[in-house]
Amino acid sequence: MAFNIESIRADFPILQRQVNGKPLVYLDNAATSQKPQLVIDAIVDYYSNYNANIHRGVHSLSQEATDRYEEARQKIRQHFNIAKAHEVIFTSGTTHGINLVANGFATILGQGDEVIVSALEHHSNIVPWQMLCEKTGAELKVIPMTQEGTLDMAAYSALLSGNTKLVFVNHISNALGTINPIEDIIFKAHQVGAAVLIDGAQACSHIKPDLQALNVDFYVTSAHKMCGPTGVGILYGKEEWLNKLPPYQGGGEMIAEVSFEKTTYADLPHKFEAGTPNICGGIAFGTAIDYLNQIGFHAIEKHEHELLEYATKELLKIEGLKIYGTGTEKTSVISFNLEGIHPYDVGTILDKMGIAVRTGHHCAQPIMTFFNIPGTVRASLAFYNTKEEVDALVAGVRKAQQMLR
Ligand SMILES: *Cc1c(COP(=O)(O)O)cnc(C)c1O
Repeated sequence: MAFNIESIRADFPILQRQVNGKPLVYLDNAATSQKPQLVIDAIVDYYSNYNANIHRGVHSLSQEATDRYEEARQKIRQHFNIAKAHEVIFTSGTTHGINLVANGFATILGQGDEVIVSALEHHSNIVPWQMLCEKTGAELKVIPMTQEGTLDMAAYSALLSGNTKLVFVNHISNALGTINPIEDIIFKAHQVGAAVLIDGAQACSHIKPDLQALNVDFYVTSAHKMCGPTGVGILYGKEEWLNKLPPYQGGGEMIAEVSFEKTTYADLPHKFEAGTPNICGGIAFGTAIDYLNQIGFHAIEKHEHELLEYATKELLKIEGLKIYGTGTEKTSVISFNLEGIHPYDVGTILDKMGIAVRTGHHCAQPIMTFFNIPGTVRASLAFYNTKEEVDALVAGVRKAQQMLR
């Protein structure tokens, strides 16, 4: 299928609306993506035609819902090239997946063990590990970052030792757009016998990771950043690891047998899927993955890269504008500030023009502390954005600068 930006934009009803009297220019895709009509239809179809609880009823409706939910799990398995469907655990999103793994490692780690995080993380890939370290006495080490907003890989190598049990790094930084060298990170961690969790929340809308090729132990992501609904995501875990970790939550669905003397747990994936899941969300996640693959990640990457290069070039023509995150490996996220102007003020003026950007620390305060700034203006571009929208952003930033100077 040829990449036709006009027909792609027509798939997204929200992109046709106006905000503050101006056509919406949605550049906050790193926070959440917009949803195509197909995904919206999948949600309506579920509640209109086959809403029922899954894995329990003998009745036809329940069977239909179960089949569709399990089909979605298969789609996700194929998309990420995961070996076994039961290695796909449905979660409520990235944050849930990370907490599930961190909670499990509380039974594995102890005094003298070390875990390694990167300086480029989202708070959801920092705080659960700090809580884990407090609980277990394990020590948290941090891979430092460079002025370009990339990871210092020599420092990473130096941090690794026989004491390292777990490394957790994001695939792509949501604050700066940096693509981290996760192949290398995983390979080196395995050399010292450590497991690796990759936070893919920001990556999966831009690229299609091959989880078997990566040989990663855990990979987490959220549907809502890849054109799917909020409140659903996946944890991928290698079977041997998922069998090793204890269940995270107790409840229905996750048990094999319950008595007051002893409960035995269900097999994977149900062991980690307590309670009624987001059935509709899981099914619509599968639809979103179909949609993205229909456009094709090759075409998505190419278009986004062109937008990134164009936007970077045009923004840098503005005097006093500084971009944070200048590594060569980066995706279409541009974090910037205007000299002497608070990012919040820029964002407020852009909003008046219908341009949606994010301002603030982007749930990554350590990065802002590193650059000694209160936050940035972040424009994050998706495959449905256009050069004309980049022009609107650049004009808006120029206008904000004139007004605030
Ligand atoms: C969005 C994001 C998260 C959090 O995802 P939730 O869907 O809010 O759980 C974590 N890490 C990164 C890199 C993100 O971009």
